[in-house]
Amino acid sequence: MVLMISKDKIPAFLDSLIGRGFRVLAPVRTKDGTSFRMIEGGGEANLDYVNTVYPPKKFFIPDGETLFEYDMKKGGVKKTLKRERRAIFGIRPCDVHGLLVLDKVFNDKFRDPYYNRKRKDTLIIAVNCSEAGKNCFCQSMGTDKLSGGYDLLLSDAGNCYVVEGWSKRGKKILGNFFEKKSGKPRLKKLRNRRKFDSRDIEKRILNVFESKRWEKVAENCLSCGACTVACPTCYCFSVRDEPSFDEESGERKRDWSFCMFLEFSRVAGDVIFRRDRTERCKQFVFHKLSYFKEEHGRQLCVGCGRCVDICPTGIDFFMETERLVKKADKKVKGK
Ligand code: SF4
Ligand code: SF4
Repeated sequence: MVLMISKDKIPAFLDSLIGRGFRVLAPVRTKDGTSFRMIEGGGEANLDYVNTVYPPKKFFIPDGETLFEYDMKKGGVKKTLKRERRAIFGIRPCDVHGLLVLDKVFNDKFRDPYYNRKRKDTLIIAVNCSEAGKNCFCQSMGTDKLSGGYDLLLSDAGNCYVVEGWSKRGKKILGNFFEKKSGKPRLKKLRNRRKFDSRDIEKRILNVFESKRWEKVAENCLSCGACTVACPTCYCFSVRDEPSFDEESGERKRDWSFCMFLEFSRVAGDVIFRRDRTERCKQFVFHKLSYFKEEHGRQLCVGCGRCVDICPTGIDFFMETERLVKKADKKVKGK
């Protein structure tokens, strides 16, 4: 027996979630492609999409988030952490892996209450991909499949979705939109056109750290940061106080911050330790493919391909890395 929902019932299912007090985030068609938005009705959701232009990370670590308010006259700090019932529908496996990466980051030496509150309050209704974008290489990174991190997982079976597994709270929201059926439905299979040789990449890439090719690549980089905005696992931030005119109250905020920017490495004494654009590009690539794995035991890159899709000058760090690493592998073998 399998559990199924007909595709034409999805809008009504989403309406029922809204009716039950969930804020529902779903993929919506915009002039630039498909993006996650808060919807007011199930009919707004677009189910016919490959991937969203931007990942859903802004709903878990919003740019400019107020961490707390302070008021010296009233005696201190007012926490702004709020509970909210949310459901995100249509999130792809690579982006769920992106959240699993963020779970590690925000529960490392310090447990971040802001991220974890949002994560706990959000039901994850993932939808497996049946079609890959031209730059997707999730199958090479092992992030095309899920074995956890979701409440419901839907798979495309033509005119319906099959629900393969669910959490306790996922079960609670099923309602009568889902039916039990016998037989084995044929699921649409995903095939990445693009491949990336990720075997031991965290070690192999270290052999090309000194390559002059990175300088050539960085010549085309505008330091615009678009790749980092579009990346589901770029999580760096800075913190600032925004005082009011009364000079006694204000807010502490957290802003996104990106290693591709010159300002990112400005420290006390006005020292910028990654002034060179080549160094910044290398930091992006080596953090994604080597340093993070060394520290946390898994790759930071989930193979969504968005950084390649979005780069205005067509930089493809993964093609560059693969070429360099393959050459270096041959040299190592030849020794
Ligand atoms: S999107 Fe391209 S140009 Fe912009 S910072 Fe990233 S690599 Fe550089
Ligand atoms: S580095 Fe590029 S391909 Fe990898 S997760 Fe980030 S945006 Fe996706």
